[in-house]
Amino acid sequence: MPVINKIAKEIKPSATLSLKEEVNSLEEQYGFKIIDLTVGQPDVGPTEDVLEALLEGGKFSRYGPVQGDPELREILSGVINEEIGVRYSPQDITITVGVKSGLDILMRVLLEPGESVGIMKPFWVTYPELVRLAYGIPCFLESDENLRPDLVRLEEEVEDENIKVLLYSSPSNPSGVVYTEDELKGIAKIVKEKDMWVISDEIYGRFVIDGRKHRSILPIEDMRSNTILLDGPSKRFGVPGWRLGYVAGPGEVIKALTKLQGHINSGVSRPAQYAMRVAYTSEKAREANDRMRQRYERNRDIFVKGLNEVDGISCVKPEGAFYAFPSIEKLFGYKYEFSGGEYEIKTSVDFRNFLLRKAQVAGVEGAPFGMDGHIRFSLATEEENIVSALNNIKSAVEELCL
Ligand code: PMP
Repeated sequence: MPVINKIAKEIKPSATLSLKEEVNSLEEQYGFKIIDLTVGQPDVGPTEDVLEALLEGGKFSRYGPVQGDPELREILSGVINEEIGVRYSPQDITITVGVKSGLDILMRVLLEPGESVGIMKPFWVTYPELVRLAYGIPCFLESDENLRPDLVRLEEEVEDENIKVLLYSSPSNPSGVVYTEDELKGIAKIVKEKDMWVISDEIYGRFVIDGRKHRSILPIEDMRSNTILLDGPSKRFGVPGWRLGYVAGPGEVIKALTKLQGHINSGVSRPAQYAMRVAYTSEKAREANDRMRQRYERNRDIFVKGLNEVDGISCVKPEGAFYAFPSIEKLFGYKYEFSGGEYEIKTSVDFRNFLLRKAQVAGVEGAPFGMDGHIRFSLATEEENIVSALNNIKSAVEELCL
């Protein structure tokens, strides 16, 4: 048989999707009811007015502008200005098929084969794979012990690895860390000195908690010309299945990205873009987002406090997004019994399987996020699931032995 592309062969499937199969098979085989804390999406959908707009948008059945609906881009220009304090012309914003496809195309716009992209650890699982797909080289940049950017190390690594593009999400998936103004200034200084690109994924920007304000690197002096902003409605309005996102940046980048998008997907679903207009201007949608954030903040309070009371688990307090990313490394080496067999926990995948089998709780192992000593839980669920999951985890860990 002829061969297929090496990168396509080697790329790992999405950890969350393969996990779904494991959860289903355990539920079937043992009659378990597993509490699913794997999902990277809100547990509520869009408000009625936004849904109605999607139906109404069905009348836009012909191809639309590749760059996206001009009215929507005008609205987004205002939203970006209001939320992070920089004014983009609608010409410098392109609507994409989710942030995911926007980032995919962006990699092809920015990289020559073999060029390096620095990815701050821990990172969203898709980042390194999209770099590889564009024939780039992902370089993983260490965080400090609180999962925060380590600026001293960052400076060294940027130099050693000859990094062209820096990529991060703040608020972070998976850690919930929100970069402070000082950290952003430190990153900006390094980026400017080396004249690198920085890709700022702010998809969780509306999920900053504890009364803090979302901050972007963009308003920092001179950063406009080096920065590309990624954001979208998937999380804030609970519409990840509609596949909408946007990229804003310097004119040359946006022009090239739009040109490529014209060949790749001809632009984004027009009914969905029409509904996105309504979502970004609807008071109801904004309030629904506020309610979501408040619920997830309460879940964070309960879950993280509880986890930190479990011997062997320690969790940095998330400041945004809706995930917890505790360290479980101290439990490596411990053993448990299940269905007649004895198992030892040596990796985050083993720990994930232990929780599935003994606590009936599903989280995503830390390895694909760049940190094998951790596990990621999504807190975008009902409070009762959070409480039950916590109790189950506590009991299961208590039974572990050396
Ligand atoms: N960036 C981050 C950090 C994410 O967690 C996700 C979704 N899990 C995305 C981007 C992609 O979102 P979408 O393609 O739905 O816009």
